[in-house]
Order: sequence, then structure tokens, then C-alpha cells
Amino acid sequence: MIKKRVFITHRDCPYLRTKRSGVVEWGLSPALIIAIFIFASSARAEESRPASLPEYNLSVSFDIAGSKITGMADINARAGRELTVHTGDLKVLDVHIGDRQININIKNDQFRITPETDAIVTIKYEAVFKDSKTNIIGKKGVILRGTWYPLVEGMFVYSLKAALPDGHIAISEAEKITMDKRGDTAHFAFDFPYPLNDEDGISLIASKNFVVSKDTYNGIEIVAYLLPEEAHFAKTFIEHTKRYLKTYEKLLGSYPYKRLSIVEHFQQAGYSMPTYIFLGREDFKLPIEETPLGHEIVHQWFGNYVYTDYDKGNWNEGLTIYFADHSYKEQKDRGWKCRRRILSGFKSHVKDKKEFPLREFSERYDSASRSIGYGKAAMVVHMLRKMTGDKLFYASIRDFIKGNRFRVAAWDDIKIVFEKSTAKDLSWFFNQWIDKKGTPELSMDNIGINKAQKRFSINFDIIQKKTEFKLPIPVAFYSRGKKTTRIFTLDKERERFSIILPERPDEIVIDEDYDLFRALSVDEDPPTLERLASDENKSIILPADRKDRYREIIDVFNEKGERIKLAYLKSGYPPRKGHVENEKKRRPGFLTKNGERKKRFFSKEMTEINDEAMKASSIVVLGMDNPVINKLFGKTEFTKDYGSLLRVDIKKNPLNPEKVVVVVNISDNTSGRQKAVPAFEQIFEYPFYSNYYLKDGQIIKELKETPRGIRINPDYRTMK
Ligand SMILES: [Zn+2]
Repeated sequence: MIKKRVFITHRDCPYLRTKRSGVVEWGLSPALIIAIFIFASSARAEESRPASLPEYNLSVSFDIAGSKITGMADINARAGRELTVHTGDLKVLDVHIGDRQININIKNDQFRITPETDAIVTIKYEAVFKDSKTNIIGKKGVILRGTWYPLVEGMFVYSLKAALPDGHIAISEAEKITMDKRGDTAHFAFDFPYPLNDEDGISLIASKNFVVSKDTYNGIEIVAYLLPEEAHFAKTFIEHTKRYLKTYEKLLGSYPYKRLSIVEHFQQAGYSMPTYIFLGREDFKLPIEETPLGHEIVHQWFGNYVYTDYDKGNWNEGLTIYFADHSYKEQKDRGWKCRRRILSGFKSHVKDKKEFPLREFSERYDSASRSIGYGKAAMVVHMLRKMTGDKLFYASIRDFIKGNRFRVAAWDDIKIVFEKSTAKDLSWFFNQWIDKKGTPELSMDNIGINKAQKRFSINFDIIQKKTEFKLPIPVAFYSRGKKTTRIFTLDKERERFSIILPERPDEIVIDEDYDLFRALSVDEDPPTLERLASDENKSIILPADRKDRYREIIDVFNEKGERIKLAYLKSGYPPRKGHVENEKKRRPGFLTKNGERKKRFFSKEMTEINDEAMKASSIVVLGMDNPVINKLFGKTEFTKDYGSLLRVDIKKNPLNPEKVVVVVNISDNTSGRQKAVPAFEQIFEYPFYSNYYLKDGQIIKELKETPRGIRINPDYRTMK
């Protein structure tokens, strides 16, 4: 199946965001604003241009007001070789093989032709793209990254020519862009002399509003195409791009192309195409470290230089997360937090029936697939690095890139380079992490401590539940603050190990740095909003009175698509008759911000909730004065000042620590609520925290500290 590659950035990726500080001080004056399109070619490696590959020449023109594209594709076809052409929403006007017009039969948006001799196959087509997710032509601009030309299966060297009304500036995969103005039309030609896979193909972006800024780094042309409102960020983004290029050229080898552009557009974006990065307007509101810039630059190597064999598993997101997002956290000594966040996300989102082996991941479509294809994949890369050591790891990754450039690669190609560099058979590793499902659940048992002469012999079982993997498990032994760490390799369900130590350990900790892909224990997993969001069984417990105060809060849950039951606690809240009925009458649906009316998920009967139900679900408690709080926590639990306009506290459910309790408290008065509700909506963008509150107009977020690693007091678990 053909699918256009769409690199979706892990916006809320497996790391903790730092405190959001609104707009940061990037306010540099617009400089370097030039709009020249003839870029001198530099001396960057012109490696491996396979002359034998077929060429695909595409010419397109536009009727912007009519959202219409008209195009002609000339494809070098070989005698006897079948071409499979995917047409999507295109209207094919005419197909020629050489001079001969032929009839085609389009079925399921595709047709096949087999020329008898070497020939040019010409396809004329047109299409109207008003506003699809991947193809748009209109006054706001042109975004074409779906099926916008006849997509022919296989690898081609593409050459694109685009005619646009004067004033437009266009970008596509290109090392060189030329523009030639004739009359009131701008003729763009894009030169990208490397083969591209059908699933990747080419894209085209254009706008009348781009402000173009230019710079160079190490022979690479860096160009920013930003919209006027964000144009003043050009210098900062270019400087950061240079910094990233410097880092990654060292780590991954030379940047593959002569040109790298940063392109902003009105759509939400965060994509990487060979030679350019596509960012959305929202990205410019974030501190630059939180934008997808670094991540998308890493994709220039992983995905845009070495292509992905999607049918054999998408490896590129795992490597990119590891080399970008994870690496930035690791540089701040927070690598372990990033890995714990990945593991927590995996535990929240990947319930049994949603799990699939990593090899089956091609692109993300929900939180579970993201947790597998991005999160678990990054952990697999981390384990590979731990196993091989840094020097060999980075050298092997460079070998992988060098050996697979401009071709599609799979997990097996990664395996091949690592087996070569380590001179080991790594089948077990790739088999258990790529082909198998399963998350080891680790524990320690039967601890025996014996004093022999002046030393202590510690014997213990390590157990993995649910899996029978081979696991190099780091275990730390603490004796009065002093730490000794050893790796114990477990390859069955339960195994006995021993260690001799000079002192008696007072604490034993399994995997305190989260170096293994494993299930977090209940103690380790912080209570977060994400855990509520991912829980399929959840209830909102209505406040004792003043329910109107929380109406908008309930609406936010509704808008977020959260399926939550409305409930009340019998002992604390006898609901007034007709409460729900009245609500239904007044508000038959939910009006979202863009004016569409959505069905309420919970317009049904309100149900009484009992202890059993509270144990089985995650709970949202509305109002600090809600009687359910006393019932769950006792009176002493919430003693802090709740004068704040909005306060959200997330705790483990005392009846079942696998579930969470989310206490939402908002201001009593109308003007306070007007500030609280939008802030409450915003916290869903940062779901990996335990407390949220408003202070001086800012949302403050805190994560509850939980024990780091599986911590064991040996005196409690000694052998009987
Ligand atoms: Zn990505």
C-alpha cells in the first residue's frame, strides 16, 4: 500500500516539558531578508547518484482562485516493466506511451500499464484541492504533500517545474531552486538529483507571504521562509539550525544535502522532507527547545537520507526521538526522567489489546501506536546503546546511515550493522524487542543475607512476569548512601543470583535509571492527567451543590472526547430531581469553538457511585468540598490554600493505586471562572503532571515525586 510519508512530531513526546514561559525573548530584528532563488551549489558530497534509476519529470500550473492544479508527468519507463500508478483524487485527462494515446482503466484509484519498449509515459491530469488535510490550494497558500501527482510505485529521480501567479514563493525537495519570471507568472524549477521512494515522493509548498532569510553553514545553504508575523524569528531559527547541524554532522556524518530550509505555514505542522522542515505557526509560540526543530533536523538523516521500508516496520521515529528529544534531556541529566516518561506513557496507553510488535508499526494513528512506534522504539535504541557501549554504538549508527543512504532500510539493516560491529549474533535482541510483544514486569524475592568473615553474601531471585526475555538488569545495592551497581542477566522467568559486598545493603534498587524497557511498578508510576485520559473506566463525581460552577469544566472533558460517566455519591449528595433532564433540555449538544455541535457523551442518566465502582475506575472529583474527598482521603489530605482560580490535584486512587483521582477546584465567582476554564483546557496539552494551578496568569505544573527504580528494603523481603 502506498502511503505518503508524514513525519508527525511527537508534540508531547516522551519527555517532560519545562515550564511554559509564554513567548520567549527571541525578539531579534529582522535581518538577512533576501529573496534570491539562485543558490550557488557548494562542494558537498555528490555521492551515489544512481544513473540507472528512472526519472520522473513533473510540470504543474495553478488556478489559485479555483483551487485547481493542472499537471503533466513524463515518466521514463522500461520495456516490459509494469508501472503501477496511484491516482487518488486526481482526474486523469490523458495517457500517452510515446506518441501513442492509450486507454486506461482506473480501478480503486490506480491503473497499470506496461510499455513494450523503453518509452516516455506521459500522464496529463487535473485536480481541485480545496482543503484536505494533505492537499490545499487557495488564497492562504499551497500545501501539497498527499497524492497531488500520479504516484508511481518504485524509486524515481524527480524533477519538478511549477508555474505560479507572480508573487508566490515555492519550496519543494531541492538542492537548487531557480525562478524565472515571464509575464505575470513565476516559473520555479527544483533540482533534487537523488532517488526518492514512492511513499516519500515530492511535495510542494507555496505562499505569497513568505519572508525569506538566508545564511550558510559549512557549505549548506540555510533558508527560512516565514510568514510576516513570525519573520523576526528567522535569525534565531537559523542560528539554532546551524547549532543542530554542527552537533549532528559530528554524530551522524555529513548533512546529506546542499540546502536546508525552515518553512512556516498556516497549517499545524511538524514535518520533515528531504532538504526542508515544515513548521506550523503554533511552533513559534514555544521556547525554541520545545519546538520540533531539532527532531525534524534529525529526520534529515533518519527518514530523509536513509528511507524507511514501512512494510517492514518504521524505525525512523525511534532513532529520531532518541537522537533528538531524549538526547536533549540527557544533556541536562534528565535522561532517566525521559525514559520513565516513555514507560509511563506506554503503561497508560498500550493496554493488552492495543499492543502490537514494533515491526508492525508504520505510522502513528493514536496514543497507543505512538507509545509503541516512538516510545518503545526509542527505548530499544537506548538498550542497544547500553549493550554495545557509546563508541561502538555511534560508529554503528554512522555505518548504518552510510551503508543505506538513498535506499529503503529496515530494522534488519540496523541489526546487520550492529552484528558486524559487535561480532555477535543479536537475533535474540531484535527478536524479543522488535518481533515480540510483551513488557517485562520485574521484581525481587527470597533475599538472603549471610555474613561470612568480614563480608556479606547477598542471594536473591529476580523475577520477570509475563515475559521470558533475556534481560541485562542493572541492580544497585546501597549501604549507608554508598552504591554498588551490577548487571545481572536474567533469561528465564525466575533466576537466583548472588553478590558479595563489604557492607550490608540497606536498600536494593532494580533499574533506577530506567535503562530497560519494562513495566513501571505501581510505586514508580506518577499519578498524572495522562493516566486519567487513558483510562477507559472513569467517572466524574458531581459536587454537592453549585453544580453550575462546574458546567464548563464538564464541557471541557466533553470537548476533549473523554468518555466519562457522571456520578454522585449517595451518602453525600442526594441529587435534586430533574438535574440531568433539565441539562439535556437546555443543552442538547455541545457547541465546540469552531461552531459544530457535538453530541454529549454523558447526557445519559447520572448514576450513583459506590465503593466498588470507585475502586474500578479513575475519578474526577469536582469541588474541594465534595464529600467524596473525605471518604477517599480523610480530612487532612488537602490542607493547602485553595484560593487559586484553578487547582487540579491528581493522586493515586486510595482504593486502587492503578487508578487516579483528579480533584478539580475552580473559583467561585464568574470572572474567576472565565480565567480558570481556558486554563483548564490548556492543561490537556501537558498531561504528564500531577498538579496544576494558576499563579499570576501562568499555569504552574508539578510532577509528584515517586520512588526512582524498583526499591526494595532487604529486611522486608528476606527468606523465611
Ligand atoms: Zn518524527
